[in-house]
Amino acid sequence: MLQSKGYGATSADDALHHLDFQRRDPGPHDVQIQIQYCGVCHSDLHTVRNEWGNTVYPVVPGHEIVGRVVAVGNHVTRHKVDDIVGVGCMVDSCQRCDACGIGLEQYCENGFVGTYNGEEMHTGGMTYGGYSDSIVVHEKFVLRVPDKLDPAAAAPLLCAGITTYSPLRHWKVGPGQKVGVVGLGGLGHMGIKLAHAMGAQVVLFTTSPNKREDGLRLGADEVVVSKDAEAMARHENSFDFILNTVAAPHSLDAFLVLLKREGTMTLVGAPATPHPSPQVFNLIMKRRHLAGSLIGGIAETQEMLDFCAEHGIVSDIEMIRMDQINEAYERMLKSDVKYRFVIDMATLD
Ligand code: NAP
Ligand code: ZN
Repeated sequence: MLQSKGYGATSADDALHHLDFQRRDPGPHDVQIQIQYCGVCHSDLHTVRNEWGNTVYPVVPGHEIVGRVVAVGNHVTRHKVDDIVGVGCMVDSCQRCDACGIGLEQYCENGFVGTYNGEEMHTGGMTYGGYSDSIVVHEKFVLRVPDKLDPAAAAPLLCAGITTYSPLRHWKVGPGQKVGVVGLGGLGHMGIKLAHAMGAQVVLFTTSPNKREDGLRLGADEVVVSKDAEAMARHENSFDFILNTVAAPHSLDAFLVLLKREGTMTLVGAPATPHPSPQVFNLIMKRRHLAGSLIGGIAETQEMLDFCAEHGIVSDIEMIRMDQINEAYERMLKSDVKYRFVIDMATLD
């Protein structure tokens, strides 16, 4: 077994602290990665605090991983030692079901293996994520990080990037469309950059009036403070698509009424408790759609990284030391993130 160290929690009310643990030795199809950077996703916080009710402790979070390949198994063909690579939210899936067959590993009918808090297919133990010095991953779940991308600022693309890219592509966002992004956090700021690069007219909805300038700088054509009823009313019946990234329960009706006939609002935010049920009339009167979307497949994640390289897109990051992680979680809860924390893993001791 491979001796690893990282930061994790041993219970829901425990702060993150140093943990030593073991990973499997690299098998013939595995890549061993020395982790350089790991983004901090709100899902890490939901999991550490068991807000989704499924956490197995100890948990070592982190699924926005960038690092350097230090060893490869003898059947590995896609990656080689010294490559800069990424790992996102999944490290395995059954590879046999219909979903895996068409590159939708995130919807694997037998359940994909999460990068952390997942059940290892090889050992039956739990997976441990990227707040750590190294990771061992099947080569199929390892992404190439294009040279053009700064590796630290590329780390958040592995979750925040793909989680926003996938629905924007699935619902065919492009020129001539009016697209809303709700919430300016890690996911939201990537949603704005990507929708803008895809050619859409982008409107940011935020609860934080002080984020207006940033919203415009990141690529929004307009910023609406969602508590301002008059400003909201001016946008009724006008959106083709709305991407809702908010991490807390709120009224969906406020946004559904902004969709035009047959428009879609897709939820990617995953709050600990449900949103109040929306008014059925807000859906049926204009045949509107309310949908959801989970991260993205492996091939699509590579496509997103290549798209970002081509368009010069990375995350806006605030680099932190590993021992600043608990403080970063508190700031994330106050919507005080500009716009993704990334841990410099060289600071892990
Ligand atoms: P984040 O950085 O904390 O951003 C969330 C944003 O939501 C905040 O910045 C804030 O934006 C807004 N917000 C927070 N509390 C709010 C409230 N009470 N009312 C209204 N708006 C509020 O989080 P993130 O990392 O982007 O993640 C967002 C959510 O997506 C989390 O629930 C996470 O678990 C989930 N997620 C889902 C997937 C998926 O595959 N579907 C993947 C990754 C993450 P403003 O200040 O602009 O209002
Ligand atoms: Zn995430």
